[in-house]
Amino acid sequence: MSVTIKTEHEIQLMRESGHLLEKVHDGLIPYIKPGITTKELDHIGEEMIRSLGCIPNFLNYGGFPGSFCISLNDEVVHGIPSEEKVIRDGDLVKIDAGLIYKGYHSDAARTYAVGEVSQEARQLMDVTRQSFFEGIKYAKAGNHLNDISKAIGAYAAKYHYGIVRDLVGHGIGTHLHEDPQIPNFPQKRRGVKLIPGMTLAIEPMINLGRPDVVWLDDEWTVVTMDGSLSAHYENTILITDGEPEILTLTK
Ligand code: MG
Repeated sequence: MSVTIKTEHEIQLMRESGHLLEKVHDGLIPYIKPGITTKELDHIGEEMIRSLGCIPNFLNYGGFPGSFCISLNDEVVHGIPSEEKVIRDGDLVKIDAGLIYKGYHSDAARTYAVGEVSQEARQLMDVTRQSFFEGIKYAKAGNHLNDISKAIGAYAAKYHYGIVRDLVGHGIGTHLHEDPQIPNFPQKRRGVKLIPGMTLAIEPMINLGRPDVVWLDDEWTVVTMDGSLSAHYENTILITDGEPEILTLTK
């Protein structure tokens, strides 16, 4: 698949899709409290998506059994919502969500601290989020994909964190995952040239310890190999003639 360039009409649909997803993320925040299970969070979030007239795009994607990926602590991504998993005080909770609005996908992830977390956990969250913003400083027409990857990687490397290499960001549009792949670390090749109308899901996944990850036997949940904490931050963005537009974050 080549990288798709969206028309004005498609961009408007992507924008609306992104704005609705932002609403879902924000709507879920009050529920991320000690005592709730990740299954309950998934259910509440799915209801929100459907009440907005949208479809959860993660549900059944490759057989994924939830509408949200909810990953705790050393779980990096793709945590399966479960009645057995109860949110506790001190948890790092990663909520990855996506929806389809009129055929157009959006994708965004946030990391939340529940109650008091350690200073190092707090810094990991902040650096992961900031690495996204460092990356998109280069998300401008005429630049190349690797300019974004390099900037994300360089920022996280300053803190000696483990930047996950086995999972990457991606193009997005009428499919959840489109070309190009967007690594969070520098590549040998400069990658595709950025053109207005490209929509990209940029998503640094960063570990407090080593970058290595492993897949659990459930075939979905990705955890850090060394058991260290992990953080995730993602938005769907639009390449424009000027500054990039963050479709899943308007405030
Ligand atoms: Mg994504």
